[in-house]
Amino acid sequence: MPASLTRNLVTGGAGFVGSHLVDRLMEAGEEVICLDNYFTGRKVNVARWMGHPRFELIRHDVTDPILLEVDRIWHLACPASPVHYQHNPIKTAKTSFLGTYNMLGLARRVGARLLLASTSEVYGDPEVHPQPESYRGNVNTHGLRACYDEGKRVAETLCFDYQRMHGTQIRIARIFNTYGPRMLPDDGRVVSNFIVQALRAQPLTLYGDGSQTRSFCYVDDLVEGLIRLMNGVHAGPINLGNPSEFTIRQLAELVRDCINPGLQLVSEPMPEDDPSQRQPLIELAKNQLGWHPTIPLQQGLEPTIAYFRDRLAEA
Ligand code: NAD
Ligand code: UDP
Repeated sequence: MPASLTRNLVTGGAGFVGSHLVDRLMEAGEEVICLDNYFTGRKVNVARWMGHPRFELIRHDVTDPILLEVDRIWHLACPASPVHYQHNPIKTAKTSFLGTYNMLGLARRVGARLLLASTSEVYGDPEVHPQPESYRGNVNTHGLRACYDEGKRVAETLCFDYQRMHGTQIRIARIFNTYGPRMLPDDGRVVSNFIVQALRAQPLTLYGDGSQTRSFCYVDDLVEGLIRLMNGVHAGPINLGNPSEFTIRQLAELVRDCINPGLQLVSEPMPEDDPSQRQPLIELAKNQLGWHPTIPLQQGLEPTIAYFRDRLAEA
């Protein structure tokens, strides 16, 4: 193998976003080590690369240290759906803190650059709208979402302390709600829930009255932003998301009308601490990375619906 190839480690690489990133890096001719404990990831997401000389798949939990010779660490390992991260909240906090600590230790030791997949959840239930990177957030430190939100906040802190103390090269992406093929059908996140419900001809479940808002980014746009951030000079944190904001009711109507316009929308209780609004300001990403999303929600829903149609047919 020529020594000049970039050696990438993608933690959480068998998951939704991670596997799309693996695809992009492999297609660019780079070397990729995909590391995952398969909590919410699936080998099938990276199956097309199995046996490829530039690809390696490792079953490993990031809460344990590991030594690998790499140039770039894309640190995505962490469950992202509230259903999954609340399944074992102590483990989620450990994954964010210890996992990021271990990956920063690795980055320091081998001189790699580390990109952290942080989240818009660091803003909690935001009182500033839309959210700029300078907003410090409104997080309930002891609520059901805290294991994830505070986990990511401390992960960001660790990155900046490694940068200050050891000169470690860091990049922080604050990712807003992202959707696309390879989300899990039982993921619990809103886009996959609504699509799967509509395909099964079930009512779509609106938590609360559906007036809360989110801004949905298609996964290809996000991966492009992650790559530009890693390759650029700005450490961040940088918001990566699509600024087009929708109420959850609007999303439900859109999905329903694409799949089965006769279906009902039903109301279910609002989960604790569910943010009432969320929309990224992306001026920093535009100016620093020359990045902005290009795929509107209606367009991104098409391949996502097609993916779930196939998966449900397989099942
Ligand atoms: P995902 O659940 O599909 O992927 C996470 C991956 O990490 C899975 O493959 C899982 O098995 C793996 N993993 C979890 N804990 C691990 C551990 N301890 N050790 C090794 N592997 C572990 O979620 P996703 O949507 O692909 O999210 C990827 C990253 O992006 C996460 O860090 C998430 O917090 C962040 N993010 C995602 C979104 C989004 O909307 N998708 C939004 C904000 C932030
Ligand atoms: N939501 C909903 N019905 C569902 C799943 C989610 O109304 O079946 C709502 C949820 O309460 C939240 C929004 O959709 O207000 C986005 O939820 P998701 O879990 O996808 O992401 P997050 O809340 O982490 O942004």
